[in-house]
Amino acid sequence: LSKLQLLQRHIRTFPDFPKKGILFRDICPILKDPATLTAVTDLFEEHVRKNYKEVDLIIGLDARGFLFGPLLAQRLGIGFVLVRKKGKLPGPTLSVAYDLEYGKAEAEIQEDAVAPGQKVLLIDDLLATGGTLYAACELMRKQQAEVLGCMVIIELKELNGIDRLKQHSVFSLVQY
Ligand code: IMP
Repeated sequence: LSKLQLLQRHIRTFPDFPKKGILFRDICPILKDPATLTAVTDLFEEHVRKNYKEVDLIIGLDARGFLFGPLLAQRLGIGFVLVRKKGKLPGPTLSVAYDLEYGKAEAEIQEDAVAPGQKVLLIDDLLATGGTLYAACELMRKQQAEVLGCMVIIELKELNGIDRLKQHSVFSLVQY
């Protein structure tokens, strides 16, 4: 079994969650199987090493970006930074409001989390409409960071999230 096949077998699909008409892709089985979690981290690490000479930080998105981002950052020997939903981070923060596939939200980052000019890669579990990653990219712009690219485990092709993120490169491991 290839790493990608292993990953594909550990994504479950739930119809009508969290709302009717939404086909929810569930990554929990990946976390439950250590070999698969290692394979996912390997695939991300291979992509980063092949495509980027220099990365300063991995930026993880609330909440499932927090599960995969730190593992990757450790592999690369670099730091990990959290972009959180509103009201969770102490101290001075920057925020950006955005629309979700199902609802509204606000993304926040600590003002001192990223220094101007730092090269960053963003990570989340899934790209749907791209609203969440777009908001995180806006936060990076406010921090004058250089976004090298966005990475997700799953891309939902029909929602055209990459169009929303058009000025940034998007890497996904699995596409539906
Ligand atoms: P977007 O902002 O529309 O691209 O939605 C992406 C965000 O919503 C990510 O943070 C995902 O974790 C979450 N999300 C949307 N759809 C799904 C899904 O089918 N499975 C898991 N997470 C999802």
